[in-house]
Amino acid sequence: APVDELISGLCATIPDYPKPGIVFKDLTPVFADGAALKAVVDALVEPFRGQFDAVAGVEVRGFLLAAAAAYATGTGVITVRKAGKLPREVVSEDYALEYGNATLELHTTDLPPGSRVLILDDVLATGGTLGAAVRLFERCGVEVTGVGVVLELGELDGRSALKGHRVSSLLRL
Ligand code: 5GP
Repeated sequence: APVDELISGLCATIPDYPKPGIVFKDLTPVFADGAALKAVVDALVEPFRGQFDAVAGVEVRGFLLAAAAAYATGTGVITVRKAGKLPREVVSEDYALEYGNATLELHTTDLPPGSRVLILDDVLATGGTLGAAVRLFERCGVEVTGVGVVLELGELDGRSALKGHRVSSLLRL
């Protein structure tokens, strides 16, 4: 089956999680299915193949995809983490959540300036999270080849937070 059908067939929908009024898309059944995981990782890499030196994942579901994509392409894996988790010098970027703010951090020396990174996460919603991740790499002089997500929640228009960047989603809902 095409990858978008694999995803839509396995993805679970949880109303009122984590808060009343929010409809949460749960991709853990996609990750748990060997054929679907392989198809998803291959499809995330495909548009950017040969154009990146490392794959970054956003904590925590992005880590699963980034590690698999890095292994599949013989590149390194980079962790974009929640505040306070990384032990060495970091850059920090704040971003808006539906309620309040959050912070993402990146080690300043994980990638040399001029290298190229592909950033992966499971879901693109408002784009706040991936927008912050992009800014972290740009502040370190790293070129963002593109952003890849399994699922894009289209009506939240996360692409507007990623203007000027290539964004690839495997399924748009
Ligand atoms: P954004 O910053 O684009 O609004 O939200 C994206 C971030 O929140 C991603 O890191 C993603 O993992 C998480 N997220 C937001 N909504 C959902 C959802 O419906 N399902 C899942 N699995 N993650 C979500």
